[in-house]
Amino acid sequence: MPWPVPSSGSLQNNMTKASRKVVFIDRDGVINVDLWKYVETWKEFRFEKGALDALKVLTDRGFDIFIISNQAGVGDGVFSEAAMWQVHEKMVAAMAKREIKIRGARFCTHGKKAKCDCRKPKTLLLEKAVMNLTFDKQKTYFVGDKLSDLEAGKNFGVKTILVRTGYGAETEKKLSKKLQPDHIVNNLRDAVPFILKA
Ligand SMILES: [Mg+2]
Ligand SMILES: [Zn+2]
Repeated sequence: MPWPVPSSGSLQNNMTKASRKVVFIDRDGVINVDLWKYVETWKEFRFEKGALDALKVLTDRGFDIFIISNQAGVGDGVFSEAAMWQVHEKMVAAMAKREIKIRGARFCTHGKKAKCDCRKPKTLLLEKAVMNLTFDKQKTYFVGDKLSDLEAGKNFGVKTILVRTGYGAETEKKLSKKLQPDHIVNNLRDAVPFILKA
């Protein structure tokens, strides 16, 4: 049976105009344990305690979850882009087992000195991630563990949460008056109530 064809553009408009609930989350040190080196293989990948629970709640509450991650190890020749995607696919599969849905993931694979347009604190990864989405930036958080995450969030005009996992405890010491996150929490799980209330 063919679907009824909607009158031109109306379905599309409704879909794009409906405001989505969006959350941006850094990967290393937030979702998974930062090894203080690059996570190059799935064998090295460990979820942060409570991270899967947090992502499950956000999924169930209808959030579009975007992972926004700098992986300069690719551009700097430490590991391959294929290895990076392999880790990503395994991570997504592990999440799927818990019925967690990631709407998108954007990686900057340029080297640290490449002066690209996407490495956080720049915002191109975020812009691309939500290109076709309607959402309210003032109700949207970027959750990260580094100053570059907080800066990227602020540069993009969303709110920010610093987690103390990963580099977060170090980052907390480096915060200036100018650069303050909206909230500081111990881990991604503790960030969830703020994200839900936004
Ligand atoms: Mg990080
Ligand atoms: Zn880049």
